[in-house]
Amino acid sequence: MRLPLDYQAPEDLLTGRAILITGAGDGIGRAVAVHLAAHGASVVLLGRTVSKLEAVYDAIEQAGGPQPAIFPMDLLRATPDDAQRLAAGIHEAFGRLDGVLHNASVLGVMSSLAHYEAQTWLEVMQVNVNAAFLLSATLLPLLERSDDARVVFTSSGVGRKGRAHWGAYCVSKFATEGLMQVLADETESQGRIKVMSINPGATRTSMRAAAYPAEDPARLRTPEQIAPAYLYLFGPEGAALHGRTLDAQ
Ligand code: NDP
Repeated sequence: MRLPLDYQAPEDLLTGRAILITGAGDGIGRAVAVHLAAHGASVVLLGRTVSKLEAVYDAIEQAGGPQPAIFPMDLLRATPDDAQRLAAGIHEAFGRLDGVLHNASVLGVMSSLAHYEAQTWLEVMQVNVNAAFLLSATLLPLLERSDDARVVFTSSGVGRKGRAHWGAYCVSKFATEGLMQVLADETESQGRIKVMSINPGATRTSMRAAAYPAEDPARLRTPEQIAPAYLYLFGPEGAALHGRTLDAQ
C-alpha cells in the first residue's frame, strides 16, 4: 500500500506523545523528527553524531515544538545495557513511549557476494537488524503502557526483491521485514502496539547518493516531501496498518 504524501495532518496530531527516532541527525530521520515535533510529538533523537542531533534539537526548539531529548548511541556497538539506559532515560524524560521509528541504517558496500568483505557484512547486519531487535525488545515494556503505540521499521525495495551487488544491505532489509512480521504477530493479541514497515522509496539523501553516484539528486523527492507519510503512520489512522509492508511513494 502507498501512503499519502499529501496527508494534511492536524497540528495537534501527536500532542502528548513521545516518539523515538533512530538516525535522527540526517536524511529522512531528521526530516521526520522535525515533522513529528511540528505536530506536537516529544521526539527522542538517537544517532551517532552529536553535532547533527544538536542541530535537529535546535531546529525543533526554534520552531516552537515540544522540547526534544538527545540520546547519542552508536548502534554498531550498542549493548543490552545501553538499550536499558535508553529505556530508563526515555522514562525519566517523558514518562512514556508511544512510538519507535527504526530508521538508522548503513549501506555497506556495493559488491557481489563473492567479493563482499565479511567484516562489512557483519557491521551492516549489526546496525540495520540486530540493533533494531535490541531496541525493540528492550523498549517493549514502555510501549505496552501506551494506549496506541507504533513500531515502524524501515525497509527498502531491495528488502522485498533481491538485487545483485546490494549484498548485506539487501539481506538486512529482508531481515527487517521478518523482524517486523514476528513482532506484529506477537503484539497482535494485545492490540495496543501496531507494527509495520515502510519503504521510503528513492529519496534525496547521502545514502541514496552513495548508492547511485551518477544520478541527478534534483530529480528525487526530498525527505521533507515524504515526511507526511510518516505522520500518517504515527497518527491514529496508522493503527489500521498493523503488520503491513508500506511504501511512501
Ligand atoms: P542517511 O545515510 O542520510 O541517514 C542515516 C542516518 O542513520 C544518519 O543520521 C546516520 O548517522 C544514522 N546512522 C548510521 N549508522 C548509525 C549507527 N551506527 N548508529 C547510529 N546512527 C547511525 O540515510 P537515509 O536518510 O537515506 O535513510 C534512512 C532510512 O531509509 C534507512 O533505513 C535507509 O535504508 C532507508 N531507505 C532510504 C532510501 C533513500 O533513497 N534514501 C530508499 C530506501 C530505504 P550519521 O549522520 O551520524 O552518519
